[in-house]
Amino acid sequence: MTHFTCTNCRKTHTITSPRWRCDCGGLLDINFTPHLDVRLLKKRKPNLWRYREAIPLPPEAGIISFDEGFTPLLPVNFDGREVWVKQDQLFGTGSYKDRGAAVLISQAAWLGVNHVVEDSSGNAGCAVAAYCARAGISCDIYVPADNSPAKLAQIARYGANLKAIPGSREDTAAAVMQAAENSFYASHSWNPFFFHGTKTWAYEVCEQLGWQAPDTVILPAGNGTLLLGAAIGFKELFQMGLIKRRPRLVAVQAAGCAPLVKMFNEDLNVVPAVQKTATLAEGIAIAAPVRGAQMVAAVRESGGFFISVDEGEIKTSLLHIHHQGYFIEPTSAAVTAGVSRYVAQHAAAGEMIVSTFTGHGLKAGDKIAKL
Ligand SMILES: *Cc1c(COP(=O)(O)O)cnc(C)c1O
Ligand SMILES: [Zn+2]
Repeated sequence: MTHFTCTNCRKTHTITSPRWRCDCGGLLDINFTPHLDVRLLKKRKPNLWRYREAIPLPPEAGIISFDEGFTPLLPVNFDGREVWVKQDQLFGTGSYKDRGAAVLISQAAWLGVNHVVEDSSGNAGCAVAAYCARAGISCDIYVPADNSPAKLAQIARYGANLKAIPGSREDTAAAVMQAAENSFYASHSWNPFFFHGTKTWAYEVCEQLGWQAPDTVILPAGNGTLLLGAAIGFKELFQMGLIKRRPRLVAVQAAGCAPLVKMFNEDLNVVPAVQKTATLAEGIAIAAPVRGAQMVAAVRESGGFFISVDEGEIKTSLLHIHHQGYFIEPTSAAVTAGVSRYVAQHAAAGEMIVSTFTGHGLKAGDKIAKL
């Protein structure tokens, strides 16, 4: 039976309640064993719902969708080396967060929820706001007031109540926690349904490679929504026998905010407090990721590691990717800088490497124009 499991006290809870954490305060995961007959996929639309049976919503639940997903997987040149890059900047709201929002807001709609709250450094807020608009659910989106104006405008234009909070990203998280006492918290970091949306990244990559797993995948590590989603996806595909091994996960943080690099390298048990400095990669500057320990465990278990990239590398990589015809936002360039670093220092001959573009450059036009 599909249910929530608390990662702290192991208590289980039904998924038919609008809960986002355990009574003990612990993080929830979803206990779920997918079954997917890939022969059926040929006849299905090229969107992420082609894996419907692998998404832990009951069969009778309707879905809230814009036909999202199945983004192109293209070979991109990194210093003479070919790396496969998923074009997740091409989602409707401009980032891969639509994967998570589609599944999470479908769950909220199925539960009959009519109001949600969410906090975000930008893109998750955009995605939740768009899917709430589609579902007819009202939402309050909490964001740091100094975020990209284009992202704040996008959230407001979708009809969400924009709560711009002065101060740090952590101040915004504290403000939403209060609101979440009385509302459904459509959180991309707490709510495990979000991760069962982002896991479709792994399903698509393997299908697009002819049901083969890459050797290595290189992904961002802020709150880990894509990293942990991919870990779930590859694990399920492996358990279903659709791939023969699980890829190594390499996670990238900006040096200006890299608590997990420190946690991994120093073998710590808890996410260490770090001094945050300004970074172009605003979207992954998360000082206290709630699933930080899970992220480090997933990377370690896969045989991978963490990379930190500095501001110079991020800027160089951003310009280099733009020159090749891909318009990504600065946060996304932290990942591509990590790919360049990996290619230069770690890649073996013949190794198949897959990474991703996470967000569209039009979201941060002003910032890019000033570089
Ligand atoms: C959300 C996001 C990421 C990754 O962030 P996580 O906090 O790890 O989920 C990377 N790039 C962009 C553009 C994003 O919106
Ligand atoms: Zn618990």
